Amino acid sequence: MDIGKNIAEIKETLPPETRLIAVTKTKSPEIIMEAYRSGHTIFGENKVQELVQKFEKLPKDIEWHFIGHLQSNKAKYIAPFVKMIHGIDSFKILKAVNKEAKKNDRVVPCLLQFHIAQETTKFGLDVEEAREMLRSETFSTLKNVIIAGVMGMATFTDDKAQVRKEFSRLKTIFELLKAEYFSDGSQFREISMGMSDDYPIAVEEGSTMIRVGSKIFGSR
Ligand SMILES: *Cc1c(COP(=O)(O)O)cnc(C)c1O
Repeated sequence: MDIGKNIAEIKETLPPETRLIAVTKTKSPEIIMEAYRSGHTIFGENKVQELVQKFEKLPKDIEWHFIGHLQSNKAKYIAPFVKMIHGIDSFKILKAVNKEAKKNDRVVPCLLQFHIAQETTKFGLDVEEAREMLRSETFSTLKNVIIAGVMGMATFTDDKAQVRKEFSRLKTIFELLKAEYFSDGSQFREISMGMSDDYPIAVEEGSTMIRVGSKIFGSR
C-alpha cells in the first residue's frame, strides 16, 4: 500500500478550496509518518487518548483535527493543541471547550455537528437546537471558541441518492445559519462532509473538508 500515492490521488480530484483530513484512527505513528513524509500534515482522530499520544509522539507542525464525539470532561486534554473540533453536538460540550481553550489562552475553531443520517445512532444537533444555542446570551459570552462551520455524516448505505440528499441538506443548513447568524462574513465557512465511500458525492454537494481514512491507510 502506497500511502503517499493514495493521498495524492484523492487530492487530485478535489477542488482547490476542499481540504483532505487524513483519518489516522487505529493507525500507528510509523504509518502516519509515511503520510507525513509524503508531504501531508492534516490528520484526524476520533478518540481523545489516541490523539494525545500521537500528538506527543509526532512532529509538531501536524494539524490535528478532532472528528469524533467529545465528552466534556475530556476537552481539557486536547484544548492545548487541537486545530479544529468537528463534532460539537451539544451546547454543553461547546461551553466545556471554551473553558479549556481559555485556560490555554487559545481560540479553538469548532464545527457544529448536525444529524443528517437516517440512523439513530449518529450524534448531532438539529437546526432548532443550533438556533437556540446561537442566539442565547451565554453563547455571546464564549470568547475562546469560533464556530467555523458545520459537520455531518451521511447514512451508511449504497443508495447514492439518499447520501446526496443528506449532504445537500447539510449544505442547506450551512447556508441557513450563515444567513441568520454569520452574515458578517466571519470565519463560518467550513462544511466538513465526506468519507472514504462517499466523499466524491460530498464534494459535488459543496464539502470544504473531507475526512478520509480507509481509502488512504487501508481497512481498520
Ligand atoms: C472514521 C471516521 C472517518 C473516516 O472513515 P473512512 O470510512 O475510513 O474514510 C470520517 N469521519 C469520522 C467522524 C470518523 O469517525
